[in-house]
Amino acid sequence: MNSQSDHKYRYIFGPVPSRRLGYSLGIDIIPLKTCNLNCVYCELGRTSAETMTRRAYVDSEAVLAELAQVIADSQRIDYLTFSGSGEPTLNSELGELIRRIKATTNIPVAVITNGTLLYLPEVRAALRQADLVMPSLDAASQDVFRRINRPHGHLQIDKIIEGLIDFRGDYSGPIWLEILFVCGINDSTAEVAQLVQAVQQIAPDRVQLNTVARPPAEADIQPLSRQMMQRLCTQFGEQAEIIASFHSTARSSEHNNLGEAILALTARRPVTVADMAMSLGASEKNIRQALPVLLRAGHLTARKHGRHTYYHMRRDHARTILPDELFVG
Ligand code: SF4
Repeated sequence: MNSQSDHKYRYIFGPVPSRRLGYSLGIDIIPLKTCNLNCVYCELGRTSAETMTRRAYVDSEAVLAELAQVIADSQRIDYLTFSGSGEPTLNSELGELIRRIKATTNIPVAVITNGTLLYLPEVRAALRQADLVMPSLDAASQDVFRRINRPHGHLQIDKIIEGLIDFRGDYSGPIWLEILFVCGINDSTAEVAQLVQAVQQIAPDRVQLNTVARPPAEADIQPLSRQMMQRLCTQFGEQAEIIASFHSTARSSEHNNLGEAILALTARRPVTVADMAMSLGASEKNIRQALPVLLRAGHLTARKHGRHTYYHMRRDHARTILPDELFVG
């Protein structure tokens, strides 16, 4: 990865270390927080553009051109992953993009989706072309669905679960279903029993249990304890796992411009200093030296959550000029 060019990309981010995918190159084909859900735990904040409209939100040719350039410049990419600022299946050109990407590279394509549109045959057809599909399902009852995911008014959880079951029926690739638990919302005995039943019907290859880790959209929501997660894990059967932290040896730094690299990384999601060090191959010491400058200049916000401080690019600073002092190698 080359930081000199990283900042100029609009649709591609990374490769970033991912807990589930190794080095994942993100493909972002939806404008920031364009989504049909408004999850209480969303690390991108509250949904600003709630919609059910599927359309070409971005210029697909520009996405493919950027992708080809980043692949050519990158040393290691384990997955090309549709994810990022909103719900990728809202982009009506997703299927065509996957098809064209797969015609030009052998790197596997993954799609991280909230899974809400799989009841649509055209969305299932688009996702069938991916090598790995990672949908979410945080609730099995409409009441809990409303409380945790705060969905668009047209979405019904029964229909969403049916869509996931239908997709399992006509997709031969792996499905890794993620369930994110929020304390006091979707962890009741009754809701978990319904979720277990839904998961049995969907029959994903893996069930990945998660809880609130990064600063969520709503400050007062709480994660489940490790013990509670372990107890839940046993209820979801053999294919269930608690998503572990990603570990990797640090790569040597390829970033001449650390400030730009930090901004590129924090534009998509809140990250800790340790996340930055691992992703950028830079020392924590150098990152800690760069951060005060970015914070003083108003490019970043810092937010404490649990024992960690998370840094996130301010949305209104997405296209700003960096202070000169950060351009020293
Ligand atoms: S977590 Fe994902 S599905 Fe939920 S609001 Fe955020 S972008 Fe949308």
